[in-house]
Amino acid sequence: MLWGRCLVTAGRQSCRCKVSFIKRQYGFLPDDVKSLRAVVTPDISKIRNIGIMAHIDAGKTTTTERMLYYSGYTRALGDVDDGDTVTDFMAQERERGITIQSAAVTFDWNSHRINLIDTPGHVDFTLEVERALRVLDGAVAVFDASAGVEVKKKICWFFFFFFVEYFIVLIAASVGCNIKPHQAQTMTVWRQAEKHSIPCVCFLNKMDKPAADLKFSMESIRQKLKANPILLQVPVGSGRNFSGVVDLLTNQKLIWRPGSARDDGRVFDTYTLDQSVEPELVQEVGEARAALIEQVADVDDEFAELLLTKFSDDFDAVPPVELQEAVRRVTLTRKGVPVLCGSSLRNKGVQPLLDAITAYLPAPDERHHDLVRWYKDDLCALAFKVLHDKQRGPLVFLRIYSGTVKPQTAVHNLNRNCTERMSRLLVPFADQHVEIPSMSAGNIALTVGLKQTVTGDTIVSSKASAAAAARRAQNHSGTGKGEHPSIILSGVEVPEPVFFCTIEPPSAAKQPDLENALSCLQREDPSLKVRVDPDSGQIILCGMGELHIEILHDRIRREYGIETDLGPLQVAYRETVLHEASATNTLDRTVGERRHVVTVQLTVRPAEGAVCEVTFTKELEEQLTAEMKEAVKNGVDSSCLQGPVLGCPVQGISALIQSVTTAAGTSPTMVSACVSRCMLKALRLAGGQVLEPVMSLEVTVGEEHLSAVLGDVAQRRGVVRDIQSRHDSKVLLASAPLAEMMGYSTALRTLTSGNATFSLELAAYEAMSSQDQNNLLRRAAGLL
Ligand code: GDP
Ligand code: MG
Repeated sequence: MLWGRCLVTAGRQSCRCKVSFIKRQYGFLPDDVKSLRAVVTPDISKIRNIGIMAHIDAGKTTTTERMLYYSGYTRALGDVDDGDTVTDFMAQERERGITIQSAAVTFDWNSHRINLIDTPGHVDFTLEVERALRVLDGAVAVFDASAGVEVKKKICWFFFFFFVEYFIVLIAASVGCNIKPHQAQTMTVWRQAEKHSIPCVCFLNKMDKPAADLKFSMESIRQKLKANPILLQVPVGSGRNFSGVVDLLTNQKLIWRPGSARDDGRVFDTYTLDQSVEPELVQEVGEARAALIEQVADVDDEFAELLLTKFSDDFDAVPPVELQEAVRRVTLTRKGVPVLCGSSLRNKGVQPLLDAITAYLPAPDERHHDLVRWYKDDLCALAFKVLHDKQRGPLVFLRIYSGTVKPQTAVHNLNRNCTERMSRLLVPFADQHVEIPSMSAGNIALTVGLKQTVTGDTIVSSKASAAAAARRAQNHSGTGKGEHPSIILSGVEVPEPVFFCTIEPPSAAKQPDLENALSCLQREDPSLKVRVDPDSGQIILCGMGELHIEILHDRIRREYGIETDLGPLQVAYRETVLHEASATNTLDRTVGERRHVVTVQLTVRPAEGAVCEVTFTKELEEQLTAEMKEAVKNGVDSSCLQGPVLGCPVQGISALIQSVTTAAGTSPTMVSACVSRCMLKALRLAGGQVLEPVMSLEVTVGEEHLSAVLGDVAQRRGVVRDIQSRHDSKVLLASAPLAEMMGYSTALRTLTSGNATFSLELAAYEAMSSQDQNNLLRRAAGLL
């Protein structure tokens, strides 16, 4: 409410003054960069954990940079075009001008602590977005106000538009071999925010562009996002003449004058509107304010009642503070989204956006976080990001849900079931990390010393506190003994990688360095999987898309100084069996003085699910020791890593172990080896079937190009499930094998002259027809 009062006071001041405007300066004097040491833990009601989400190129990074500058945490204005921004700190991001890792930065604004999480816009990195969303309480959606017009021509407001379900691998253009970050983007995040019920504020950026169109942008938010946009400002001037906004709550005109001071937009003038000077603007503002009041009253009963009881004579007389409180309620319940406008690049409109963040978006204690209540005042935090720092080792970002963290204390990692020592606690102020003595619930902290922690882990103070939380949860839910209601914060669901390729170090001597680099990268990014080909010994990278693997390759070179070679990108197939088959295998080997003899008999058969099940006959179940059973399971598991048809992982089978006879002194390792060979025999006999990733494809296209798209989908072994009408476009729903979707973004662009958009997500692994499988095998053998 502080904000409202400030504005009201400012309004009164300007009314009394003879001079019709007052100069406002937010932030600090140019050389008075905020002392980073003066950091106190803020009250929870003053914390805002906010994400900035946007279609790529909408100006997210530019806006973030302005926020850091006006809040006094950076001396110079970073520029994405010059590659010197704070938040896009990885070299690749600066070069490519895209945000890959969601970097968390902290700053203060109007006695509020803002933790800002910059989310990446590229679809290969949906996991990053998902990770960031878990820890947000509110979001700012940055839109390019000029994109609407262009899209109107092209019928593809894709960035406002997406239909992909939560937690789903979105590969979109990443299957294309020539991805440019600009092609592949979605407003995935908007839907994700909706699912998490995250309140949002919209910022219509780039109002300085001649094509900027406020009305169309508002209409698009309404139509495409199915949101209720509440316009809080009216722009003053358009295109190059865009100079500021009129705040509809206070009726004040905020003008950023070019040429003032350093033209960094820090100083702006506040005017009271004058009917005699600008009657048209006064009329436009009057109408917009009346519409605003009506719109808010429509969705907020409390405000409607206030209007009817106290201001029935003149709705316009409602005080800004009351209106602001009502807008806040509407935002928090997601009945509406406040909309502000500006131009980050031209340094206009960012300070009111910051005011709106503190005024309308929720504090951490206004959000409901499940599970956390079982911990009461004990520590419960989510590790939502891991970074590797050359000097300090792994840095773990924690969102603290309850309790307090302190440096030099031990914490317990519930997922890894281990206790670790946190050596230091930092706050990521802009590009600097400031050491602090403690941090409490609601905050985002950066910790040093947690070496085992992986992205998505739940951190608590001790095993005992976790047990206490589990007891509370159990008592509450009334579950029986032995059943455990979860006390682990739902982490980040990692999608299955669908692409892989080999990676080779420049020399054998560099192999350990490469392994180390990959294990560091995996802790940061759980969507990267690494395995070793048992035959060739080659390291294999498995990832979400081409850009994903390309960026990892780049990072290994830059951050770890290793030049590696990548093999061609391949689709991750799986294998299963078609029939039941039994096999027997005997291993008789003398190693040193010792003779190992083992005979195994087993049967494999097709089974439901994506795993390889192991069962024993009743007699064996009783007869075998735990160690032997483990050895048998290891043997089955290792045989399932590489199936007999293509050498791909095997799934959907069950292995029944019928007999295991061993001579005295036979080692478990030899038992595993024998089981593994026996499995391979049985799998061969059972008839191998290749499973391929089948994607669910959705194409939005104008009717005139529909038949061309349909023809192309059929050629790609696609099956059309439905064709729907959406506004003036057709939406084609189909499934198609991933292997056939390489280069789809380019093909679709050519077919439709750029007037279509698509999304791809992994639907299932499905059996290939015998003809397709034969073709694949012949191609793999180099015969095609
Ligand atoms: P992001 O991809 O959302 O992070 O967007 P960036 O901040 O990297 O900006 C993308 C491009 O848009 C850059 O070339 C910026 O200079 C430009 N840009 C950002 N904000 C504005 C603006 O307000 N007006 C104009 N004309 N260009 C802008
Ligand atoms: Mg960016």
